[in-house]
Amino acid sequence: MNATFVSHLECSLTGETYPAGQIHGLSRVGKPLLVRYDLHRLARNVTKQDIYASVEKGFWRYAPFLPVTKPENQISLGEFITPLIRLRQAALSMGGRAGFVGIKDEGRLPSGSFKARGLCIAVSMAKEFGIQHLAIPTNGNAGSALAAYARRAGLQATVLCPADIPEINLREIQQLGADTWRVNGLIHDCGKIIAEGKTKVGWFDVSTLKEPYRIEGKKTMGLELAEQLNWQLPDVIFCPTGGGTGLIGMWKAFQELKEIGWIDGPLPRMVAVQSASCAPIVKAWRNGDEQAEFWHGASTVASGIRVPDAIGDFLIIRAVRESRGFCIDIPDKEILAARDQIAKIEGVLLCPEGAATVAAYRQALADGWISRDDRTVLFNCASGLKYPMPPVSTDVNKDLEIDFSQFAVST
Ligand SMILES: *Cc1c(COP(=O)(O)O)cnc(C)c1O
Repeated sequence: MNATFVSHLECSLTGETYPAGQIHGLSRVGKPLLVRYDLHRLARNVTKQDIYASVEKGFWRYAPFLPVTKPENQISLGEFITPLIRLRQAALSMGGRAGFVGIKDEGRLPSGSFKARGLCIAVSMAKEFGIQHLAIPTNGNAGSALAAYARRAGLQATVLCPADIPEINLREIQQLGADTWRVNGLIHDCGKIIAEGKTKVGWFDVSTLKEPYRIEGKKTMGLELAEQLNWQLPDVIFCPTGGGTGLIGMWKAFQELKEIGWIDGPLPRMVAVQSASCAPIVKAWRNGDEQAEFWHGASTVASGIRVPDAIGDFLIIRAVRESRGFCIDIPDKEILAARDQIAKIEGVLLCPEGAATVAAYRQALADGWISRDDRTVLFNCASGLKYPMPPVSTDVNKDLEIDFSQFAVST
């Protein structure tokens, strides 16, 4: 029996098909390729019970929905099912209902972000194809995920980052053994250098959506959410959106699950959340456009979504429309206020990108885009520990008389 259910690959714009089992980048027209499966054969061979019974504690339990053919190429760093943390107090304070809003905390994955999902599968496929050297442009999290999985697989990784990404990300990438470079520009500038180096250096470009397998890894977010919720999907899902693989990947997962009859009823409304200071997708969606224009002067504390130019723009907008979702942008000040609020009320430290989804939830509720009865999932895509936090400025001098009244906390 064939070890995978992949039937072929397909250009996401033209539908032109490409054979599986070969190295692919973009399609002939320069658009992302999507992996297609023989879902009927999958459904005849795999049951929900098989998934429940899987010994894998992380996203490798969804291997039948993934393109890796040989178990020895399944690179692993101890993945596991990320928790869905229900907001109570914070949900009420935003006008929602306690327990109806959950944060899926992807910061607990290896390398501290959901980039682990995509890069794990991309690296596993690279290993399968005998590719030796991978290169990526990154705002931080994709770089450390690539570094971690590539080294684990014994492959070389070169990482190009905008010089101003959080220092901790930069050092993490280098510490994980990647050849790490700072570039005096933004992520698309790094991407251009990587594209140019393809023939000159001979590395393989694992930029967002420029190879077909990161999206398959991101798809596991949707499969995992479905299994975690006993195959009853939420009404609305908020995704911080940069390159869009999270949103596109989850939407692909839901389509595939629906096709094989593992879920039914209406699919969740997909909401793309961006920073108001880098919101090309929101702008295009508001204008009724299919594709986004380049966003000039992109800058946001939510570095993971600082993407002025997304190659999968039309796929993000398509998924948002098909799902009857919407796009929303949040000023950085509100992003940080939401991070403060969730940390202080719920004890959950979000990354700024995750905090943007909280602020977006509040905004969408206030504006009537969603209702308080909607069961909602917000994605926190990285560990809050990877980002700068406000400094502590309170000191105690043990050698002086201590004023204990200063320790009284306001409630
Ligand atoms: C990369 C990243 C995003 C955006 O992810 P896409 O799915 O590529 O749009 C959001 N949040 C964090 C923390 C990220 O690292």
